[in-house]
Amino acid sequence: MLIDAHAHYHRPDELPARRGVRTLFCGTNPETAAQVLALRGDGRLASCGLHPWQADRFTVADMLPYIRQSAALGEIGLDSVWTDVDMDIQRRAFTAQLDLAQRLGMPVILHTKGMEAEIADALLPYSMPKLVHWYSCGEHLEKYLARDCWFTVGADHASNPAVQAVLRSVPTDRIMTETDGLEAIAWALGRDVVSEEIKAVIEGELKAIASVHGISVFEAEDRVEENFARFLGTNNDSNFPHRKCVKTPVSTGK
Ligand SMILES: [Zn+2]
Repeated sequence: MLIDAHAHYHRPDELPARRGVRTLFCGTNPETAAQVLALRGDGRLASCGLHPWQADRFTVADMLPYIRQSAALGEIGLDSVWTDVDMDIQRRAFTAQLDLAQRLGMPVILHTKGMEAEIADALLPYSMPKLVHWYSCGEHLEKYLARDCWFTVGADHASNPAVQAVLRSVPTDRIMTETDGLEAIAWALGRDVVSEEIKAVIEGELKAIASVHGISVFEAEDRVEENFARFLGTNNDSNFPHRKCVKTPVSTGK
């Protein structure tokens, strides 16, 4: 089973293209959170959290009803590069959501753009599973490894040295695949993409994991699938007692 551990939903034609891909769709504000929760079922799960780009438009309280129904909390974090949302507003939303995740025993998905050093330090008090999505900073990776974080490989692994460092440095029991959604794939590849390319992008990431770690692509696929279940706490493994409440996805029949 292919895994897309972090994706934004863009258009209906990607749903048939995602058959055979277990996808964790991400909702970043109340509107997209409601949308991705409604998509659950048939291999689709939802993670909701107030994204740093949205932190001056909505509150964590606005997101709480959606977060409570989610398999993971995110993506959350800080961004000094791609948004001009005031950093203190971002920090308040981020810290409140880290506290919430810790209280609820929910895994978190992290957006770290330009704020990698500060976020690595901010994570120290928190024990829930933490997924660093598409880490693409040339520094501080060792701090996240020391925090026992999980990582996703970005679609630009062939050309981005920071993503290649993630491939080399992250052990195979902590690495996963993601697309970040169709628009992110298009951005990474510098061209328009169609939904049918989603699987090829994930397979390309698996091939890169396999090649770097000297395992077969099938083994890479198995490990990523297992990692995804362990990160979410859905593997029924009592060694991963972080989940304090049951959040199995509910099929909406849609
Ligand atoms: Zn994202």
